[in-house]
Amino acid sequence: MKAIVVGGGIMGLATAWGLAREGHAVELFEQGPLPNPQASSMDEHRLIRHPYGDHAGYARMIDSAYAAWELLWNDLGRRLYAATGTLALTGNGETWAERSAAVLATIGKQMVEMPVDELPRRFPQLDARGVERAFWMASGGVLFAQDIVAALASHLAKQPNVALHARTPVRAVDLEHGRIVTDTGTEHGADMVVVAAGAWVGQLLSESRRLVPSRQVVIYFDLPADQRTIWAKHPMVIDKTGDVGLYLVPPAEGRGLKIGDHVFSRTGDPSAEREAHEQEMQPLLRRCGTLIKEFARWRIDRLKVCFYTVTEDERFVVEKQGAKGWLMSPCSGHGFKFGAVMGLELARTILSGRNPAAHARWAAGQEGDKPS
Ligand SMILES: Cc1cc2nc3c(=O)[nH]c(=O)nc-3n(C[C@H](O)[C@H](O)[C@H](O)COP(=O)(O)OP(=O)(O)OC[C@H]3O[C@@H](n4cnc5c(N)ncnc54)[C@H](O)[C@@H]3O)c2cc1C
Repeated sequence: MKAIVVGGGIMGLATAWGLAREGHAVELFEQGPLPNPQASSMDEHRLIRHPYGDHAGYARMIDSAYAAWELLWNDLGRRLYAATGTLALTGNGETWAERSAAVLATIGKQMVEMPVDELPRRFPQLDARGVERAFWMASGGVLFAQDIVAALASHLAKQPNVALHARTPVRAVDLEHGRIVTDTGTEHGADMVVVAAGAWVGQLLSESRRLVPSRQVVIYFDLPADQRTIWAKHPMVIDKTGDVGLYLVPPAEGRGLKIGDHVFSRTGDPSAEREAHEQEMQPLLRRCGTLIKEFARWRIDRLKVCFYTVTEDERFVVEKQGAKGWLMSPCSGHGFKFGAVMGLELARTILSGRNPAAHARWAAGQEGDKPS
């Protein structure tokens, strides 16, 4: 069979990989360069972790996500991941870590509660004031996102059954008949068209009410030399203690240290100029100032604007549309960790004729660890 994939972020590339490794022909179209620095997938790192609040389905999917990454490392001949462990802190009425621990216990995974008075000894870089409960899990780590996207694109470029078309925007798709039209007016056809267009999806399919682009800003910090090695070995931190929740990505293997929040802006145009100002980051910076000892010595290296594509309930949308099409939007700000497994499993469903509705439920975190 021949498939067309629209979009060269992690989802489009991983689907192309899944189809191509089974021997099928794939043409992938990307509007920008490949990789495209504007894609949501293009940042130094993305986190993968078992704790998932109330979302048992996604917590259950994490082992399959890891297994799919292993398969990818094997195909790439490189491992683009650093294990860090996961430290989750709560207080101020927030119960995300407690709920995560309770859900994980039901699937046989253990998050260990750490007495709060042990925090200063275990993690002396953190100020434990305001932290009411702390949970630790040895699993979890950092996926080197933009390196993965670049390595996967160059791996696919070497496959005889894959054609990659960079700088080729798709202007229209017909998922009933398996056709696309590029901005030069050229038509291409296939047995299946997968639209994995990230935050731009509303321009191709009428999904703008369900899938909302959301401008997000993250902060990269320049650490004092004496702190770099310490933080490079630190676990990721998910802090839900202050007025604004934050996640901290440690600077593993020479990457930057990044801090962000998970508050959806639900605004912005992914094609517009991407500018951010320190003033808009004040709530996050204030929380950093109380959570991180010696934060006054940290310097902002840069602000980066990136886009989530969010749904109301933060569940992924991966749905069969028309006789020959799939819409693939696993994002809501937490999709990258599932990139490899989403691509492999969509390829399997397309090739094996598995039930599309069951696949959609699985992607939405409403079924088991694999589509039925
Ligand atoms: C700040 C931030 C932090 C995040 N943190 C995490 C995290 O810690 N863990 C995690 O799991 N996830 C995280 N995510 C989410 C994750 O990065 C995304 O869910 C994932 O990268 C989405 O991949 P995608 O392939 O769907 O979209 P994209 O990477 O955006 O790829 C879509 C591609 O389609 C192309 N395209 C669009 N329209 C067209 C067209 N008409 N023709 C041709 N090409 C087109 C675009 O140019 C783009 O390259 C984070 C996201 C952001 C922004």
